[in-house]
This record gives sequence, structure tokens and C-alpha cells, in this order.
Amino acid sequence: MRALCLALTLALVLPNPALAWGPTGHRITAKIGEDNMDPAAREAMQAVTGARSLALLATWPDFIRSFPEYDCLKPMHFLTVEDGQPVEEALQETPFVGGKCKKEDLQRLGIPMNVVGAIDFFTAVLKGDNAKTQAFAELLSLGGAEPLHGSIELTALALLVHFAGDVHQPLHVGRGADRGGNSVMVDWFGKLENLHMVWDELLIERKLLSYTEFADFLEQDFADRPAVEYGGGPVAWAEESVVHRAAAYEFGSRPGQNLPELSYEYADGVDALLNQRLYEGGRRLAEHLDRIYGP
Ligand SMILES: [Zn+2]
Repeated sequence: MRALCLALTLALVLPNPALAWGPTGHRITAKIGEDNMDPAAREAMQAVTGARSLALLATWPDFIRSFPEYDCLKPMHFLTVEDGQPVEEALQETPFVGGKCKKEDLQRLGIPMNVVGAIDFFTAVLKGDNAKTQAFAELLSLGGAEPLHGSIELTALALLVHFAGDVHQPLHVGRGADRGGNSVMVDWFGKLENLHMVWDELLIERKLLSYTEFADFLEQDFADRPAVEYGGGPVAWAEESVVHRAAAYEFGSRPGQNLPELSYEYADGVDALLNQRLYEGGRRLAEHLDRIYGP
């Protein structure tokens, strides 16, 4: 009972929920994305990135999340979709989570407050939509935020790469009641954790692979599979995450247990799904960037 009380208390007082695949997950998706781009499109993109790898850029949106001048970017990491709710409907009513950011500014500038809308928005910026580029520059300046290396385009690219990863993490398209698993406390190999963190980082980190090793492993593993369609757009990717998230909640609870115990059985049970979402995220990112930068 004491452990349960502790868990419930922690669930209520723990600060800021996790916002993304952890750094390794984002780098894996970004590397697979960059590896699988059309060479001509990749070369065109390098005019924006310079010598920087997408894996390096992919983690910047999490790095800045503790700086209040970037608060307006916070609602873009996820989308809340209730069970049975169509994604298109959820896009209209995403709750705002912005700290110092003013909701009116986002609305006035027409900047979306969810991961699906953010992917479309930054895609338009990178395709040269002047109105959206201006709106984004104004949003950053309102908060006193600096663009990444002084470049609006590079900032938009880093955000797009990051959010393409997030939308494939099934609990980033989560239910409102448990904040995408952030309020679901679990016993993870004997440690108190929340389910969202298990999916953002812990399932990945337990492999003890670097992001390059993990990306290479996935590229080899998926190379032998029958041709898979990696296209679609962010609405479809979010709809898939809603379907897949059910598997994240499949853990039993034994009598006398205070918290669900997640260890080898759980991790091995969701392993194929974890790999699939990291790999799909990367291949979709490649196709998406080819459409932006390709001939
Ligand atoms: Zn994120």
C-alpha cells in the first residue's frame, strides 16, 4: 500500500512529462531517413544543413525544451486522441500546453498545436511557403527565441525531422486521461518509471546499441522483408500509432502487486513493434524529404 501511495503521489507531482523518443530513438530515425534519401535530394538538403547530420539535428527540439522562449514549440511534440476518436477530429481540439507561450499568438499566426499539424506546417516552410515562413519567424521573435544557427530553414528542418520521429512513437498519439502513459506508473526491472518513459527511452536503451549500430541493425533486418509501403502522411502515421498503442498497455497485474511489473516478457513482446516504428519513421522521413528536396 505504501508503494502504491508513493507511486500515486509521484504520478501527481512529477514535473514535465517526457516529450519524445529519447535521443537515441530520434537519432536512429533520422539516420535511417538520411541514409535512404535520394542522393540528389540529399545533396540539395545539404545546402541547408551544411555538414550537419540529421541525427545531430534531430535532438535539438528536446534540447531547447527547458528554455521558456521556445515554449510555443512544446505542444507540437504530440497529439491527444481518445479511444475511438478519429485523428482528423482530434486535430481540431488539441489542448494547448504552452507555458509562457500565448495561445492567441499561435492561433493568429496559424501555427498548429500538435505533431501532425506541425509536420505539415514545417514541410510547407521548407517548400518555400513565404507566409508560413514569416509566421514562424515572427513566432520565434515574439518569444525572443533564436533560430538554430541563425537559420529559419535549418530550424524548420530540425523540427520536422524530430516530429516525424515523435508521431511514430505510439504513446505520442496518446489518450488525454493518462497523458500518453506519463501518468501510468510501472515497475520497470525493479525501478519506478512511467509507461511513456519506457517507450521513449528504456526499451531502446536496454539494447545497449549506439544509434548508428541500432540503425544499421534495423536496415539489415528490414532489408530482407517483402516490399513495404512506407508512404502516407502524418495523419495516417498518427492513426497507426493509435492502433499500435494498445500493445503498449498489454501487461498483466498479479494479485498483491502494487504496480504492473514490466521486464523481459513485456520488452520482448513489444520488441518487433518498437523496431517497426523506428524503421518506418526513418523510411517515411526519407520519402518526405525527397519530396521536399528532390528534383
Ligand atoms: Zn518530441
